[in-house]
Amino acid sequence: MRILRNFVGGEFSGKGVPFPVHDPVTGRAVAECLEADAGLVDEAVQAARRAAPGWAALPVAERAAWMRRLADGIERRFDDLVAAEIADTGKFVTQTRTLDIPRGAANLRSFAEIAAQLPGESFQTSIPGGERALSYTVRKPYGVVAVVVPWNLPFLLMTWKVAPALVAGNTVVVKPSEDTPSTATLLAEITAEIGLPEGVFNVVHGFGPGSAGEFLVAHRGVDAVTFTGETRTGAAIMKSVADRVKPVSFELGGKNAGLIFADADLDAAVAGTARSVFTNGGQVCLCTERLYVERPIFAEFTARLAEHARGLRFGRPEDEDTTMMPMISAEHRDKVLSYYRIAREEGAVVHAGGGVPAFGDDRDGGYYVEPTVLSGLPRDSRICREEVFGPICHITPFDTEDEAIAWANDSEYGLAATVWTQSLDRAHRVAPKLEAGLVWVNTWYLRDLRTPFGGVKLSGIGREGGVRSLDFYSEPSTITIRLG
Ligand code: NAD
Repeated sequence: MRILRNFVGGEFSGKGVPFPVHDPVTGRAVAECLEADAGLVDEAVQAARRAAPGWAALPVAERAAWMRRLADGIERRFDDLVAAEIADTGKFVTQTRTLDIPRGAANLRSFAEIAAQLPGESFQTSIPGGERALSYTVRKPYGVVAVVVPWNLPFLLMTWKVAPALVAGNTVVVKPSEDTPSTATLLAEITAEIGLPEGVFNVVHGFGPGSAGEFLVAHRGVDAVTFTGETRTGAAIMKSVADRVKPVSFELGGKNAGLIFADADLDAAVAGTARSVFTNGGQVCLCTERLYVERPIFAEFTARLAEHARGLRFGRPEDEDTTMMPMISAEHRDKVLSYYRIAREEGAVVHAGGGVPAFGDDRDGGYYVEPTVLSGLPRDSRICREEVFGPICHITPFDTEDEAIAWANDSEYGLAATVWTQSLDRAHRVAPKLEAGLVWVNTWYLRDLRTPFGGVKLSGIGREGGVRSLDFYSEPSTITIRLG
């Protein structure tokens, strides 16, 4: 069985208590991961602290060159990374090869380029009748950044944070999800293969509360925390770091709305919405779970989306035509199924799914659920308010644009929204009124890595992406020089 070890100061450590990692396709344990205790987390943070001054002293162009070497290393180990990500998550091969792993390399290259080209700020000041001065800013890294990430897009989301943190001159200690420890461990191997200075990149494995996650974020040697995951975990981390007033960047949960107007291109709206609901088994923070459809097309849209859901293919991860993956864990599968039950109890109309597929083979031990399309529930029902994080959506008909906007905004979350319309006027009118950090019109998940990314309300604090990431992972110091 594969053993996944902690990576501390440039070396893999044999310390830690093993816990099993399961294959979501079959439910079988396929690896053992070593849980870091407080002592090992401390070793990782100390290693990162020792490495920090030397790494920060490198010219940014050299750190950017290291990021490109790391991207080259990822591309050399591409097949291993694909296999590792599939083993942990049950993702299917076409998505993993085109999205998860390539985006890892792209994150590194993109932030290398952005950092190397970052302009500085300078100001010439003259006080009337008085002194003149030149003020300019220099960016300084924090020191050691804790990177705590979830299981849904493990490699993509980890590199999204590691790349800007490192290129800005910080060293990092990464805590991947306990469900998906493999690609972080492989990235550690790759850093060793390319000779990245020891201590710059460290990995500690384990769980959240009372384990490696909490030990790491609360450690006095950690200067800043970047986290992606559930909103309530973000709140717990905020408490852990409060007495040290550490800077945090939080990318949290969502309950994203999709607005489909009667003037939309219906084929594109059905296909695009299906993608936004069911991609990655609905386990993307940006997935749409609430749909508002203008009444004249409500019946047809609902029928076509349900047909799409029924057509998704539960193949094996390695099959090229597989389009549906399992939930990450037995616990998460049970959570999603509990929402399927709640929907029925609340009186939902079930247009597709609502149960568990039967395979008659070893996948019956896996964590699969059916893609599910619902309607008929009031807007204050739990299904319409709580993040499920599975392949589920609820559709509500609307009559006016104002109603659709008000209902979309009636949520504690505010991560993403989609608008489907062929009217340019409507697109420009509606999109800015939506309370979301990201709004897509006639598309979904089309990302330019230079654009700000993050959520409003319970969906997060701060923005990452492009220069915004470097703004988080470094602090400006203002230097003012008096001119004669
Ligand atoms: P989670 O919050 O349960 O766990 C995320 C990470 O935090 C894991 O590594 C976990 O071990 C760690 N953790 C848990 N408790 C901790 C604590 N007290 N201290 C320190 N670390 C702790 O999230 P998850 O279930 O892995 O991921 C799903 C959630 O992530 C969903 O809510 C989803 O919306 C959200 N998400 C958000 C974004 C975004 O960009 N906004 C992206 C992906 C996922």
